[in-house]
Amino acid sequence: MAKKQYAVIGMGRFGTSVAHTLSNLGFDVLAIDADEERIQEVSDWVTHAVATDSTDEEALKSLGLRNFDVVVVAIGEDIQASILTTLILKELGVAEIIVKAQSELHGKVLSKIGADKVVFPERDMGMRVAHHLISPNIMEYIELSKDYSIVEVKAPAFTVGRNLKQLDIRARYKCNVLAIKSGTEMNISPYPEETIKASDVLVIVGKNEDLADVELAFAEG
Ligand code: ATP
Repeated sequence: MAKKQYAVIGMGRFGTSVAHTLSNLGFDVLAIDADEERIQEVSDWVTHAVATDSTDEEALKSLGLRNFDVVVVAIGEDIQASILTTLILKELGVAEIIVKAQSELHGKVLSKIGADKVVFPERDMGMRVAHHLISPNIMEYIELSKDYSIVEVKAPAFTVGRNLKQLDIRARYKCNVLAIKSGTEMNISPYPEETIKASDVLVIVGKNEDLADVELAFAEG
């Protein structure tokens, strides 16, 4: 299978981080920014770096963006530029367009005009930090939809040495343990008899309101 081709438009902190991670993973990345200096800064480590205004349809066409598998639009502040760029990419027929939104309203517009995925990095990170504050045992919080999420939670002391059947998370909290992480090992279909060890991490899926109960219960120890 051919390696996917990625383009990232907007080399702010978010766009740079996306491009950097993809490059480190060995993928080809085309970086685009209107600011010549930003392009200079990233040109050493991305495959191609081009200084151009992404609201210029002809420029995007001539870069062959149509042929990229995924284009990430990481323009935050200039909402108009972000929307216009997304619209042009959609018209060019880009297979997958992922756009960073500045606000809920910006996000709604992006979805309406055909962004395949809208991300809210500041909002999501804020949410994660807050969850971690409530319960330091919460390692990760991933929103699946408006109502459902996945949490990764360090096994508190009261769970250690007990198995999933005894903990009965399903009946007690209406949530499901998807997996148990033990160091680098990941048990992705744990049996009810699976005993929790100290330093295990439980991956739990559920409704947000039910997960909130799990978070509180697992906050101790
Ligand atoms: P971050 O929080 O990720 O640092 P941000 O959300 O504040 O970024 P901006 O700084 O507004 O976003 O934009 C990120 C980058 O996008 C900047 O480097 C900017 O030069 C670039 N950019 C803005 N408008 C355009 C455009 N029309 N064409 C190409 N690049 C653009």
